[in-house]
Formats: sequence, structure tokens, C-alpha cells
Amino acid sequence: MKNTFSIGGIHPHDNKISRDCAITPLATPPTVYISVAQHIGAPAQPLVKPGDKVKVGQPVAEPGGFVSAFIHSSVSGTVKSVGPRADLAGKMSTTIEITVEGDEWMEGIDTTDTLVTDIPEDNKATLEKIRLGGVVGLGGATFPTHVKLSPPPGSKCEMLIINGCECEPYLTSDFRTLLEKGEQVVIGAAIIKQVLGGVPCTIAIEENKPEAIDHINEVIAKLRKISPKYDGISVMTMKMRYPQGGEKQLIDAVMHRQVASGGLPISVGAVVQNVATALAVYDAVQKNKPIIDNSVTVTGGCFPKQANLLVRVGTPLSYIIDSLGGMPSDAVKVISGGPMMGKAISNLDAATLKGTSSLLFLTAEETMRKPESNCIRCGKCADACPMGLEPFLLNKLSRINDVEALEDNAAQDCIECGCCLYSCPANIPLLDIIRMGKAEVMKAIKSRQIKK
Ligand code: SF4
Ligand code: SF4
Repeated sequence: MKNTFSIGGIHPHDNKISRDCAITPLATPPTVYISVAQHIGAPAQPLVKPGDKVKVGQPVAEPGGFVSAFIHSSVSGTVKSVGPRADLAGKMSTTIEITVEGDEWMEGIDTTDTLVTDIPEDNKATLEKIRLGGVVGLGGATFPTHVKLSPPPGSKCEMLIINGCECEPYLTSDFRTLLEKGEQVVIGAAIIKQVLGGVPCTIAIEENKPEAIDHINEVIAKLRKISPKYDGISVMTMKMRYPQGGEKQLIDAVMHRQVASGGLPISVGAVVQNVATALAVYDAVQKNKPIIDNSVTVTGGCFPKQANLLVRVGTPLSYIIDSLGGMPSDAVKVISGGPMMGKAISNLDAATLKGTSSLLFLTAEETMRKPESNCIRCGKCADACPMGLEPFLLNKLSRINDVEALEDNAAQDCIECGCCLYSCPANIPLLDIIRMGKAEVMKAIKSRQIKK
């Protein structure tokens, strides 16, 4: 099978031990903490103050700029406070604390399971519904979707790719979404396709999810009988390879086009959206339901109860862990996301965000780094890098903080996938070091842009 990207990549064990766990709604916690900084771009501005009563789906913060998104209450109750609170990484952000009372939803939100298959024709109205629904990319980037679906003048989308690869080990929430909400995902894809001018749409799913591939093919066939709006949507079975779900890697794999350094997918005619985003688009457009919950995989070899939970946005992590029997005694690290690109959680009192897809528990043995030795110039890191970079060189330049040389060698293109680190026989913490160098380059690029 050739459907994969052309350079680099690795084959870690997929460890999808939660794959058979159906998505189950988690009981609403007594208090939620809703951050106004849940997306790329300007944080949203609070619309509520302590003492205000709110309903499920009510906007509680409005976009703070062009690239920003609405934030909605995920519960009904009373706003207790609006102020700084530490997020998953320990960073402070303005957070709306709401004490839960009942479960009263905003008028106009369709909470029934009735499938709405008619694709609206008015693209402007559809985009506005996506904006009002606070939809952001749920594949990790959290870029506001209405902005991504409005290509700049002179750019033309030629293909929509729905990313169902879920190539990170352990994660299964997208897989479960494809199996359990396949109709909604395909309708969401058809809505996005319509907004982009009816371009062809490829739903890319890796070969280790055959049930999802079969199911989505059946769903497409069924929906095509209802409307020609579903023509031009197809499934592409992808070879299992990490990081297949990376935006640039997926475009390469599906369209055989390369996005240049610093370029956007639209520069090669592509728009990529994740399956969970397609579902969120369906909800926002067909059901008037903003993002108030999301699927979270709770997993790890040491975690006694694997799960895929439907969690209200702003649910404390400690509440999720307690609901599944508490913290395993041998877990020493909790990661938000997968083991390759996820971020260590420093604060279990923090709450989930729209983009929280997983909580992964690891033991001391699983997280132990082997002692670092000298580079033996084997080149394995460069062979594994899906961005065609030279990690051994970026490592050297990062250590001496040579920002100019780092930029000349495209450190800014590093997607922080960890393939270099995974491949290095000398156990050099390449990703950690390169990440620091990349941060310096990004700072330099930003300050040049401000001066212009
Ligand atoms: S982390 Fe960066 S340098 Fe390392 S393989 Fe991935 S893209 Fe390349
Ligand atoms: S993989 Fe490690 S040892 Fe080999 S060249 Fe890269 S940094 Fe050096």
C-alpha cells in the first residue's frame, strides 16, 4: 500500500488498548472551570460576571480578535468567579468558574438524536453558524474553523481532507467517533465540502482501523442515496505510519503535494480537518449545538479502567480520574494527548479544554530515559524526520543558541513529532533541545514581523 507520506516517519507500537471502549457520557461535575484561551489566536473576552445565571450552550466569552473563538457554558448554573487559574500546563489564563445547577439548555439547541441530512446551501450562513458554535480544530491545533474555511483571496481549495488517521499510539477517541458518529462526521464533511465550493473530499483512515473504514464506506453509500451532495466523498485507507496525521504529511500522502516551509495547506489547494471537527461542524450547523463537550480517551497500561468518555468542557481532571477509580499508585506521569506529541500535565486540578483528546497514564519504567551518550553520526534522526530536517545539527545549534543558523536550517519547520528522539541510539533528548531552539527562532521571527 502506497498511501503514506514520502519522507521520514516511524512505526511505534499503536497500543490502542481502549479501542473497544464505547464513548460513554461522564456525569456532569459539581463545578466546571472554563478557560477563555482554548484556541490558537487571541483569548476570548468574558461576557459574564460572578452571580450571573447561565444555561448549557450559552456564550460566556466572545472572540477577542479575528483569529479567536466563542466559548460557551458547558453546564447550567451560577457563575462563581471570573479570574486567573492554572491550566493543564500550569499556565495562568482567565477562567470562568460555574457552580452546576440542573441541566437547562439554551433554547434552539436540538438535543435529539434525529439525523439532519440536508446540506444547507447558504455558505455565508453556514460559516456564521460554525463561528457562533465556537468550532475550532480538534485535531490538536485548535485553530478557529470559520477562519480556516475562508481561504484568503487568490487561494483556491481543491481538496478537503478529513483526518481520521489518529496515528498517535494509545488514542482511540477519533476511532470511536468514526464508529459511533460516522453519519454525523460524513454530514459534517459534506457541509465543509459545500462551504469550500463542492471540492472532492477524502476521509483518510489508517489501516489499523478496518471497522471504521468499512463503516464510513457504508455510511457514504447510504447518504449518497439521499442526496448528490454526498457524491465526491470517499475513504482512503492509509498505511500505518507516524506522524501520518500531521497536516503536511497527510497532504503529501493524499495529494502528493508538498507544503513549502512556512506555507499553509491552502497554498497547495488543501484544507485539512479532523473527524472530531467534522462532528462539531455537524452539531453547530445542523443542531445549533456549540462545542460544550468532547470525547476524551483515558488510558495507559497502568490505568485499571480504559475508557472513552464524553466530557463537558471545563471538567476538572481530578474528577475524571476519581470517576474511574482514582489515580493508579504506579503512575508517575499524566500526559494530555499521545505519548509522542502530548504534553505532560503539571496540575491535576486543571480542567479539560475543547481540544483535550486524551489522558495517558505512564509508569516510572515507561517514562524513564536511558542515559545520554555522544552522537555517533549514524543519521537515523535525519532518516526519521518527516520534515526533512537534520535533527543532529539542530540539536548542536540549539545547545549553543545560534538562532540565525537554526533559522537557516529551518528549525521553525519542526513539527515536534519526536521521531528523531525515538530513533536516536545515543538517547539524545533531541526533541526537548530542538523545541527550545525552535522557540528562540519563533521569537526572532515574531519580533521582525512586529518591527515591519
Ligand atoms: S521533532 Fe522536529 S526535528 Fe525531530 S523528527 Fe520531528 S520534525 Fe524532525
Ligand atoms: S540519531 Fe542520534 S546518534 Fe544518530 S546522528 Fe542523530 S543525534 Fe547522532
